[in-house]
Amino acid sequence: MQSTVQNLTAPATTPATKPVAVLVPIKAFDLAKNRLSGTLEPFDRQRLARELAARVVSAAHPLPVYVVCEDDEVAAWAHAHGAGVIRSPGGGLNAAVEHGVSILTTEGYPFVCVAHGDLPDARDLSAVAGTEGATFVPDRHGDGTNVACVPAGVGFRFAYGPGSFSRHVAEARRLGLAVRVVHDDTLSWDIDTSDDLRAGDVNSAGMPTDAARAWAPRTSKASTMHLDLPVPRRALAIAAHPDDVEFQCGATFAKWAAHGCQLHHLICTDGSKGSWDPNIDTAELVATRAVEQRKAADALGSTGEVRFLGAIDGELEQNRVAVGAIARIIRELRPDVVLAHDPWRRWRLHPDHRNAGFLACDAVVAARDPHFFPEHGLAPHRPAAMLLFESEEPDHAEDVTGYEAAKVRALLAHVSQFETTMYIADGDDAAGLEAFDTHIRRELAAQGRLIGVASAETFLRLRDL
Ligand SMILES: [Zn+2]
Repeated sequence: MQSTVQNLTAPATTPATKPVAVLVPIKAFDLAKNRLSGTLEPFDRQRLARELAARVVSAAHPLPVYVVCEDDEVAAWAHAHGAGVIRSPGGGLNAAVEHGVSILTTEGYPFVCVAHGDLPDARDLSAVAGTEGATFVPDRHGDGTNVACVPAGVGFRFAYGPGSFSRHVAEARRLGLAVRVVHDDTLSWDIDTSDDLRAGDVNSAGMPTDAARAWAPRTSKASTMHLDLPVPRRALAIAAHPDDVEFQCGATFAKWAAHGCQLHHLICTDGSKGSWDPNIDTAELVATRAVEQRKAADALGSTGEVRFLGAIDGELEQNRVAVGAIARIIRELRPDVVLAHDPWRRWRLHPDHRNAGFLACDAVVAARDPHFFPEHGLAPHRPAAMLLFESEEPDHAEDVTGYEAAKVRALLAHVSQFETTMYIADGDDAAGLEAFDTHIRRELAAQGRLIGVASAETFLRLRDL
């Protein structure tokens, strides 16, 4: 195949249509893996570098694969392995990758999937080779970027090196691209230092072992996470107890409110079990918690309603009356997004969370169709999205960087719950208050790391509503 671009050799096979090309930057084999120099002899480092590169090139199949390199020996190696060759003008990894992407843009590929050439378990890149927005596979530390699939021709600036994952997510957002993060055990392991070498990868002489060649990864579980819905005009969170909304999606709510969203709370139970004091006046507790819930909503910036379904705490049941009552509220408030407990979470003890989740799902179904509860006399309503919190398999994250304090403030409005759920003695317990603040921020940061932002709340998104 004759190429129109100088310094480009086409791969052995190119498909008729050109959705995605894979680009593998490979530096000279004799310079590769120099951080293993204390562990492996130069000869063995070279062999390892070639072996790893071969795995990544073959994992690209059936997508067309190009190697971008400065080195003649690597160019010959790539050609022999059926890869196209793009000669890099030099200037380091970022310049080489950007040069490769620009060449492939000229060649007519709308997307380029950049895969590092040192992924020992790489077998299949098809889950990453998306043709919508930008897709990233972080390394197993959530720090580097092992694979990045970006649209060609948008001027994506690569920033490899420590911390590159969050920089690449930020760059995608700067360019207005939808962000998708794939966590894939077969792509998250890269080999930089001796800590990355596992028993079975190489023998004592640094040779890849037969076991490693036939490597079956420990798990092949992959999951995908998407970042940020458009800010809804109206959102409704349906939760079991006063304070659940703040714990599960308080920061998301604070962010949306700050961007003009009207927030609504629907709390299914009265919270009357929320005390360890056997002698407490539960009627008084119910009244207190209703006031606290309104204050918490205010702390989130809510301009919407706080409603209570009125079930007794711990005794929420799945029945038609409750489904009808929630469906009526959905039809009245007409939220674009409904948030609720994930009822399919396994091994969850508390029945209210389970039942509130099923009720919310059933009510969304009932609210959207006119033949459910026609006695409401209200127009049906179908939300655009449903986000389930407490999910075991979240696939959606909201970046809540900057809204950590609002979440904590809203939680602290639930003063009656200091002792039972926040481990704070009272309002004067400075150490307890600080520990709680730290705990919430750490949790948000841990979820943020999954999607390459400082703080996040994560959900399972139901798409077909
Ligand atoms: Zn609860």
